[in-house]
Amino acid sequence: AAKEQGRNGHAVFSPEIMEHQNRQSALLTALRQSQGDERFFLVYQVQQNASSLAITGVEALLRWQAPSPELAAGPDQFIPLLEKSGLIIDVGGWVLDEACQQIARWREYIGERITVAVNVSSIQLHSPCFIGRVQAALKKSGINPSLLELELTETALVNDPAKAASTLIELKKLGVQLALDDFGTGYSSLSYLTQFEFNRLKIDQSFVRDILVDPKDLVIVKAIVAMGHALGLEVVAEGVETVAERDLLDSLGCDSFQGYLVGRPGKPEEISPMLGVGLL
Ligand code: C2E
Ligand code: MG
Ligand code: MG
Ligand code: MG
Repeated sequence: AAKEQGRNGHAVFSPEIMEHQNRQSALLTALRQSQGDERFFLVYQVQQNASSLAITGVEALLRWQAPSPELAAGPDQFIPLLEKSGLIIDVGGWVLDEACQQIARWREYIGERITVAVNVSSIQLHSPCFIGRVQAALKKSGINPSLLELELTETALVNDPAKAASTLIELKKLGVQLALDDFGTGYSSLSYLTQFEFNRLKIDQSFVRDILVDPKDLVIVKAIVAMGHALGLEVVAEGVETVAERDLLDSLGCDSFQGYLVGRPGKPEEISPMLGVGLL
């Protein structure tokens, strides 16, 4: 009955909404208490070069160890909360530090072959301390700045494109690489591709998922690859799960692949063998 009333537009008491809100605030409290608590950690997913099939990069992905099983949450749940609360600025700063340090730990074994990609939220990019945090992460780890790739989404650019542009110019001056993540799902103003100095474009996995069965997705991926290449960008396909998908994406000219086929995200010790790192 409550649901029907709801459809008629009346404000109704909804246990589901209450429950959701309670969970969100319990999660937020737990996330807040997790800082400095070692409950955050990073997993890494490898990226494979299409022509050499070598592993040329990893993407760092944030994970959270909930204090109790009921609060267990994946990135799709806890990252929006970190963003809404502003906690992402500090947690994201820690992600930058930790990802750069991991590359430095691997360096002894792999030299400078492997880049590390770090996801950056809009709120982080626009925070006044962001450039400083990137600089600090590079300095602390001592890695070559070109080994760090920052992944941004179109959302980070759309709010204040002029400010985003000047921040991206500063970041490029530091020598880091820039990737446009989840391409095709956001605002997709094509002017972003020419206005900002991206090195790579990551085709969103929603286009890759059905590429074998949906001719429209195939057309879109073809167009993205052609456009990316015409603008001098490397094109990465995300969410590649099968050999058939990889073969098709390869024939379309994608430069790199990322997805469960090449490897699931894992802790450093799980990923090390794929990078040619011996026992650490
Ligand atoms: P994303 O940056 O687009 O990362 C790719 C997501 O796709 C990851 O999900 C990854 O585990 C998943 N994935 C990779 N290969 C496959 C595949 O073959 N099939 C399928 N179905 N999925 C695949 P995850 O780790 O759950 O992260 C979700 C999103 O959370 C990320 O999307 C990113 O937007 C955000 N995120 C993760 N870590 C961070 C972080 O440190 N900072 C910020 N700001 N956002 C982060
Ligand atoms: Mg990403
Ligand atoms: Mg993505
Ligand atoms: Mg995403």
